[in-house]
Parts: sequence; structure tokens; C-alpha cells
Amino acid sequence: MVALEAAAGDAERQGDPVQLVVGDVTDQVAPQLAAKWPDWLIDQHRHVHNGAVTDALLSARALVLHDLGARAMDSARSVSIVDDVLSERRWWVEQWPDGAAYVACLVAQDVQEKLLEDVGRWPLCGLPHEEDDEPHELRVTPDLGENPHWVCEEHGCVVAPVGAL
Ligand SMILES: [Zn+2]
Repeated sequence: MVALEAAAGDAERQGDPVQLVVGDVTDQVAPQLAAKWPDWLIDQHRHVHNGAVTDALLSARALVLHDLGARAMDSARSVSIVDDVLSERRWWVEQWPDGAAYVACLVAQDVQEKLLEDVGRWPLCGLPHEEDDEPHELRVTPDLGENPHWVCEEHGCVVAPVGAL
């Protein structure tokens, strides 16, 4: 977070470079900025968010991206889905800041649902099963809570914390 805040300070001192993002020239001037600031991190006034909400979202993003990488599913499409989910959840957690502790749990479930529609099952269970068992994904438990874990529902056991596959 130190690096992020320092960078935000730099951006402010240089005026308002975020204005360059809008309009038809996005492709020419946006990439550097887009790489630094995902859309969900910038509010409607083109300010980068700071504070507990952003910390919770960035933390959830890191956990989910780690687990995508652990299943070799961290494609550009998947990362874009994660950022869409974070953008939607940012509103939710701003309305209910006490829910910040639950963001990782919710984001993992949201990303799992969207990947299933678009990319495929994630994360596939790697535990030994009977040969004729269907491949199946792990599930997040609890449905809404802190310290979410991935579980295999067939075995009824915890596989790993979210972010530690
Ligand atoms: Zn399993």
C-alpha cells in the first residue's frame, strides 16, 4: 500500500492525468494508467480510492489472482472478469463498510460464477477421487464470512484458504 499511496500522491502533484483516459484517444494514452489503476479503483470523479475499502478490494484481488494462477487460469480474460467483479463489489462495500472483511469471500464466489459462464470450472478439485467421479470445482465456505476456504464438497474437507491454492 505504501507504493500505491506514493504513486497517487505523484499523480496529484502532476495535475490530473486521469483526464487523459476519456475519449477516443484512450488507446494512445491509457495503457500506462490502465495498468496502474484498474477501473474499479477510480471513482466517478476520476479519483483513485484509498482507505479500508480499497485495501479490502486489493487484498481480495490478490487472493483470487493467486488461486487463478494456481490452476493456470490467470488469462487476460479471467483477470478482466476479476476486475469486473471488484468494480461491482466496490459499490456494495462502500454502502456497508463493515462488510469489508467479507469481500474476499464474496469476490471468490462471484468470480467462480462468472468464470463458469464464460471460461470454465474454477478451481478444479485436485484431490484423489474415484475414477468415475465427475471433475468438480471447489466451493467457498462460509457463504458469507471472514477467512474463506476452498472445500471439496464430495469429500467434505477443506483444501486450502482462499488465496493459498
Ligand atoms: Zn473433490
